[in-house]
Amino acid sequence: MTWQQRIDSALQARRAAAAFRVRQAVENGAGRFLTREGRRFCNFSSNDYLGLSQHPAIVRAWQQGADRYGVGSGGSGHVSGYTTAHQGLEEELAGWLGYARALLFISGFAANQAVIAAMTDKDDRIIADRLSHASLLEAANLSPAQLRRFAHNDVAQLSALLDKPCVGQQLVVTEGVFSMDGDSAPLRALHDAVKKQNGWLLVDDAHGTGVTGDEGRGSAHQQNVKPELLIVTFGKGFGVSGAAVLCSDSVADYLLQFARHLIYSTSMPPAQAVALSASVAIIRSAEGAERRERLSEHIQRLRRGLHALALQRTDSQSAIQPAIVGDNARALALAGALRARGIWVTAIRPPTVPPGTARLRLTLTAAHDTQDIDTLLEALHDAS
Ligand SMILES: *Cc1c(COP(=O)(O)O)cnc(C)c1O
Repeated sequence: MTWQQRIDSALQARRAAAAFRVRQAVENGAGRFLTREGRRFCNFSSNDYLGLSQHPAIVRAWQQGADRYGVGSGGSGHVSGYTTAHQGLEEELAGWLGYARALLFISGFAANQAVIAAMTDKDDRIIADRLSHASLLEAANLSPAQLRRFAHNDVAQLSALLDKPCVGQQLVVTEGVFSMDGDSAPLRALHDAVKKQNGWLLVDDAHGTGVTGDEGRGSAHQQNVKPELLIVTFGKGFGVSGAAVLCSDSVADYLLQFARHLIYSTSMPPAQAVALSASVAIIRSAEGAERRERLSEHIQRLRRGLHALALQRTDSQSAIQPAIVGDNARALALAGALRARGIWVTAIRPPTVPPGTARLRLTLTAAHDTQDIDTLLEALHDAS
C-alpha cells in the first residue's frame, strides 16, 4: 500500500461508518449562544460550564496582562518564560486545592502526556478506567509501562489487578467527572484500594474543577480525597485554556527535571495566567457559587425532561448530560433536526464512545436561561 492508498482507505472507512469528522468554523462557539454564518444557535455543546469564557472581568484581566507582559512568554519556563504571573497563579491553585505545589501546562492533553511519561517506567503498571479520556489512555499506551484497564468505576476489578505482582510501581488513572458520560468516579473507594498496594492515584478532574464542590474545588475535594496527582484543566469550567498538575514538593521538583513538555516547550502567555487568576477568583467567590447553583438547577431540569421523553440518560449529576441514541445515523439525524430549530448539539460517535452508544452530548452552562432548557426539551420531543 502506498502512502496515498493508506490515507484514502482510512478516509473511506470513516465515511462508510458515518463517522467522518468535519469542523465547522463559527463566529463564536462558547457560552449560551453559538453564532455561525450570522445565525444564532442556542449552544448545548461547549464545555464553558460556568459561562466564564466571555466574563468581562476575565477578558479585562487578559487585556491588562497583555499590556503589562506582552503577548508571548518568550520561552520555556526553564529559560525565561516563567513570570511572576505564572508563579502567582501556581501559588493560588496550590493554596485553593490544598496541595504543596502546582505546575502549569499549555493544555490538559499536554499535562497528561507529560506527567504519565515522566512518572512511569518499564517495570511499572498503569491501571486506567476503561472510559478515561483519550489524552490519558494515549499517554499510557505510549509509556513503556504495562497498561491494564478496569471496567468503568469497578473498584473490585481494580483491586484484583492491583493485587497481581508488579516489579515496579503502580499508577491508577481515572477522571473525576467522565467526559462522555458525565458520571463521577468513586474516588474514595478507588484511593483506598490503591493505597492498600502502595500505588499512587492520578485523577484528571477536567470537568469537575471549578464546577463542583465547595468553592469549586472539584470532585476529589468533594469526596474528601487527596490523590497524589491531580490534573486540572482550564478550558472547561475556567472558560480559558491550559492546565496544571497539583502535587507534593518533591513530585513538582521531579517533574521540573523530567517532564519534557515543561522543559522543551514555550510556557503559556503570561497574560493568560493573569486571566486565569481572575477566573480562579470568580470561581471561589459568591458569584462562582451562584453560577454553580444556577447550573445545578439546569441539570435537574434537563434530567427530569429527558426522563419524561424516555431518552436514555446516564448516571450523571454533572453539566454533561448525554442522551444515548445508539445508532450513528440516528444521532446525526437528531443533531441535524435540532440544528434546523436553532439548537446546536454535537453527535458523538465511536470511536470516541463505545460502538452502539452514539449519543447527543448535551452540555449545560450557567449562562443558559431556564427557557433554553425547555426549548431544547421541546425540540427533542418533536424530533425523536
Ligand atoms: C478536555 C479534557 C482534557 C484535555 O484538556 P485540554 O486542555 O482541552 O487539552 C484532558 N482530560 C479530560 C478528562 C478532558 O475532558
